[in-house]
Amino acid sequence: MNANDPALRSFVPVPPESHFPIQNLPFGIFSRTPQGPRRVGVAIGEFVLDLSVLAEKKLFPGQALSADFFARQENLNEFLSLGRNAWREIRSAVSQLLRHDAAALRDSIALREEAMIPRASVTMHLPARIGDYTDFYSSKEHATNVGIMLRGPDHALMPNWLHVPIAYHGRASSIVVSGTDVRRPLGQTKAEDAVAPVFGPSRNLDFELELGFLVGSGNSLGAPIPIAEAPEHIFGFVLVNDWSARDIQKWEYQPLGPFLAKNFATSISPWVVTLDALELFRVAGQKQEPEPLPYLHLPGDWALAVQLEIHLQTEMMPGRQRISATNARFLYWNVCQQLAHHASNGCNLQPGDLLASGTISGPTPDSYGSMLELAWKGTKPITLANGETRAFLQDGDRVTMTGWCQGPGYRVGFGELTGRILPAL
Ligand code: MN
Repeated sequence: MNANDPALRSFVPVPPESHFPIQNLPFGIFSRTPQGPRRVGVAIGEFVLDLSVLAEKKLFPGQALSADFFARQENLNEFLSLGRNAWREIRSAVSQLLRHDAAALRDSIALREEAMIPRASVTMHLPARIGDYTDFYSSKEHATNVGIMLRGPDHALMPNWLHVPIAYHGRASSIVVSGTDVRRPLGQTKAEDAVAPVFGPSRNLDFELELGFLVGSGNSLGAPIPIAEAPEHIFGFVLVNDWSARDIQKWEYQPLGPFLAKNFATSISPWVVTLDALELFRVAGQKQEPEPLPYLHLPGDWALAVQLEIHLQTEMMPGRQRISATNARFLYWNVCQQLAHHASNGCNLQPGDLLASGTISGPTPDSYGSMLELAWKGTKPITLANGETRAFLQDGDRVTMTGWCQGPGYRVGFGELTGRILPAL
């Protein structure tokens, strides 16, 4: 039975709204105590499965990996470098062990107590040592909205946008895992009517809702990845919040693009949902007109039907409020095009590199992926249920993003990505 089969059931109880049914099995890095040793885990329902325990007990049949492989891993990088066959073999073996009719784990209380830890009790860490981080700009709606704000409706999309999957090189050292607080950055800004710039706390702090993927096996320097081989190099996906200081960005971005407006923090969700697990949720993307150059041409459906939501909670609010709902299927450039384009000049991608989509905005104002668009450059502040308004983020605001693919009676989800704004130093 295929690990994606909608009919699969686990002996672990998983309610239909859970993000982690047996059809998902995302990989992550956890520790049992905050400072304890880091281990590779797989999420199932309310539990984390410790792969080092299963491997040590030789519960992965016919495995190519040694019994102590997972006990030696503090991040996913070495596992990612092994390639798609190894990822599939392990996910399939975990799926077999978790099935409702598989006795090995189900019927051994001792083994379950050793290998299955409540997710609520563990600390999650960055899934990989991210060597390089690239942020694309793949939503036509987002690029158009920002273009209208900057240049007016007649020149909203730059002439290269429909030909080139545009991106910039981000900063890997400031990528943090969900739950990490984010300090409001200091920076240089210049008000429209001011004669000189000032240095101080950003006043236009924003979020960007994105979907990112971790590169699995990489390519050698000088050896491009043909787009037909791109899927073999994509391990899996996380939610990304590309925190952005719009006032710093506005003053610094020309002529070389984003710099300090972006590199103070980028948050990612801890569970990596494999490309394999998203197989049934691949859908046709937007029609690409004009047709991309041949090196960017790939038959098949490569947009991903991931429902996405942004929630905001201020210090005055007892709970959070949804402020946007969108879908990753709206992206214009797909992940295979992003990866193939990135490597097309011979740039070497490496296991654990993060390639993010860019802000995901849908066609309607309630489906925009940044505050810049939701409040339209501050001109239409959003009003929250308690009467507060927001044009940009205030200190103490918490932004939570979530996403999932809806299957028949189950969800293949990403869990949550959350972060709270701390006041500037
Ligand atoms: Mn971005």
